[in-house]
Amino acid sequence: MSGCSVCAALERSATGGRDLDAGLDSLWGLDDPDLRLCPRCGDWFVWRRSVAPGAQALTRLARPMALVMEELLSGTARPREAVALVEPSLLAMVVDHLNDDALAPLLEPFVEWFPSASGALGVALQQRLEAAARSSRFNARLTELLGATPSSKRARRLLRVCLEPGTTAQRPKPLAADEVADFWALGVPLEAVWVPEDEWARAIAETRVQEVSSYSSMGTAETGWVRCTNAKTDRRECAVVPPGQTAEHTEWGEMFDDRDTTAVCWQPFWNGQVAAALRHVQGASKRSLLVECARWLKQLERGGGEGETQQTLVGWLDEVRLGPEALERALVVVTERSLTHLVRGVRARWLEGDCRAAVDAVLTSAERGRRDFWGHGDTAREALVRMELLRFIVRLVSRGELVA
Ligand SMILES: [Zn+2]
Repeated sequence: MSGCSVCAALERSATGGRDLDAGLDSLWGLDDPDLRLCPRCGDWFVWRRSVAPGAQALTRLARPMALVMEELLSGTARPREAVALVEPSLLAMVVDHLNDDALAPLLEPFVEWFPSASGALGVALQQRLEAAARSSRFNARLTELLGATPSSKRARRLLRVCLEPGTTAQRPKPLAADEVADFWALGVPLEAVWVPEDEWARAIAETRVQEVSSYSSMGTAETGWVRCTNAKTDRRECAVVPPGQTAEHTEWGEMFDDRDTTAVCWQPFWNGQVAAALRHVQGASKRSLLVECARWLKQLERGGGEGETQQTLVGWLDEVRLGPEALERALVVVTERSLTHLVRGVRARWLEGDCRAAVDAVLTSAERGRRDFWGHGDTAREALVRMELLRFIVRLVSRGELVA
């Protein structure tokens, strides 16, 4: 700093007009705040709008601080030390500008740390992590980190963002051809959004596509599945059955007088998917599936309330120190309707070894949310979780991937 021909004249801090930063480079090209770098000696300055109109303020950063900022922004920092060294207002600025590569090594310390961060830094961290939650690159990692973090209100809110339907990572992406083949081999039908393009075309040609049909006729509703032969049909309204099967088709006189397409069409279809998959789960795979269901249920319930009974039940998904009779006695006294599915999950895992009940418990948990006109909750999230479970079962059965 001393003796630098470019920046020596600038003291530790200075206030002045527009050319206060003459000779310095702007890091982000921003007006307020920004970082300025001396191209000659490498010193860093914080550039802010001053309180006086038209005036700017420059503050030279101490070398160690500047080094840490540089490491943070380039993704090479030792995160914990860095985060402890940089003052919060500067860190907030850095957090706002972290690109994905620089964020990657910081994700873990940020998750530990954001529940207690306040002010501008708290806001910056919250926003950056929510953006990460919605990105396909960080969604899974963030979900995992939050699952292992002591629960706080902020962490739960962020976890809910991670699990929100429509986050990039979880938006339906067609399955790979070999995975579809595994579904077909087990006789498990699919919602059409998961079927890749060429298989969709084949399925249309082979009358393996069924479409939700619902309209009103003289005051009554006519709802049911009909065979679909038009490849341009909205796939969100369609399901595909495996080769060798024929799509469901409801004759005119047999349509339901009900506009609730979820209840009339989708719910039986989803039940059929799960039943078809579960038929193949035998012997050692049962235990693997029960463990997987407990894991899902635990993860989904972390975003919920924090009642004591609920916490106890969630704990029991992992480990139970009671004998079977004592456990049943403890479960039977839980009467809250909002906990029925958790009781079911615990029973399924430890008392009954019932895969169907375990899957139902997970799906009921996933579906909880604001109810629509017909009383359905978050069926979008439920659909995503169901697909993850189905994929797990199909892998388990076709490739023998057992969980220890
Ligand atoms: Zn300089």
